[in-house]
Amino acid sequence: MFDSLAKRLRYRNIAASLLLVGALISLGAVVLNRDDTKPEPEATVAAVPVPVVVEPEPEPVDPRSLLSWKRGTFGNTLIYNQLQQSGVDSGDIHRIIDLLTPVYNFRKSHPEHAWEVGFREDGAVAAFTLKVSPVEIYDLDGLDGEAALARREVETYTEAKIVRGAIDISLFGALAEEPQTAVLAGKLAKVFAWDIDFYKDPRQGDRFDILIEAKYVRNEDGHHFLEYGDILAARYQGAFDTYDAYAFDAGDGDIGYYNAEGKSLVREMMRSPLKLQRITSRFNRNRFHPVLKRRRAHNGVDYGAPRNTPVMAVASGRIVRAGRYGGAGIAVEIQHRNKILTQYFHLNKIAKGVHVGARVKQGDVVGYVGKTGYATGYHLHYGMKRNGRYVDPTAQKFPPSTPVPDAQRDAFQQQVTTYLAQLDVVRAGGDVLVRNQDTAAQENERQAD
Ligand SMILES: [Zn+2]
Repeated sequence: MFDSLAKRLRYRNIAASLLLVGALISLGAVVLNRDDTKPEPEATVAAVPVPVVVEPEPEPVDPRSLLSWKRGTFGNTLIYNQLQQSGVDSGDIHRIIDLLTPVYNFRKSHPEHAWEVGFREDGAVAAFTLKVSPVEIYDLDGLDGEAALARREVETYTEAKIVRGAIDISLFGALAEEPQTAVLAGKLAKVFAWDIDFYKDPRQGDRFDILIEAKYVRNEDGHHFLEYGDILAARYQGAFDTYDAYAFDAGDGDIGYYNAEGKSLVREMMRSPLKLQRITSRFNRNRFHPVLKRRRAHNGVDYGAPRNTPVMAVASGRIVRAGRYGGAGIAVEIQHRNKILTQYFHLNKIAKGVHVGARVKQGDVVGYVGKTGYATGYHLHYGMKRNGRYVDPTAQKFPPSTPVPDAQRDAFQQQVTTYLAQLDVVRAGGDVLVRNQDTAAQENERQAD
């Protein structure tokens, strides 16, 4: 998270209570001090932070407000020509370009980058501003004397934003109106990576709600979306199933995603497709094949097992192969989430209901051990591909799927309640519900943008 919004809100509450306690105690101190006969020891009062009221300093006059400004964007005209047309002489133009060159490459200027030049009443150039983006702004001041370059401080703030949508064709389509569609879709896909295959599962009419951190920058032109942070909560109501996810930091500093019951959304793979395993041949990129009598990578693990021992799917997924497959004999392949594919070869037969396109859950029997294809005896060849590349299935580490620890269940439930309240209170799309800095006035200002 940028800074966990929830955490920050919690801290602010704590800070507010401290201030309140401080105020009450200082009030008490005033009363006690009236009793001159029995002064309270200093330490009681001194130990508690008392809010200090700082008088606001008078606003200094911004010298830039006294200048008259001309503005433009780089567009497709040379900046030199633009400034010249605005009445800047070539000496000043060269000076401006030289001063900005350490921070900006004028050869790679983007047409949308903007400039502003400030003239004194007598026509002398006094200031220049380069706006690369809402967060990257350079101010050149004192061009009529001692020039100074500074990157402008920008104010950013994070809000929890709600994004709701319905699938028409794809998740991308449903999010097309949102800024940074691909980033947002990627974040949602990652949260539900073990449950939903966003390339295949979504159906027309599926609905989703996302509560996500969104970072904005505020400047004199208004508010600008900057980037997304973490998804705080998400719900997906699909034709196939309904899923929910809640972000929670179980104490290790990293957030994990859990369902409302506090179970991790990460699904571990079973260590092996067989209940009892005995490895007879390990994964080996350069092994002598007993049947083919030549060197050939062994892209999997062989488990010796009696004929017709049930073979289970190591994780939920979709069957992408079920049938005769050359030397692999009767084979089953399952495509899982996160670009993992598992293979089960030399089967004696395939289990009922297992056909290409069928879904299986972790632990479902997909077939029975045999010796079809190139096999010397009854065994299961178990293979795995990650991102299209063969890997040793026994050496793969998958993130642990530990639930929310008991000691943190209350905190977790509270978090879920908060998130649900945010997701459910306002049903209209894209509403801003939580802010850490904004006031109602600023919110109105934004709506007027
Ligand atoms: Zn094998």
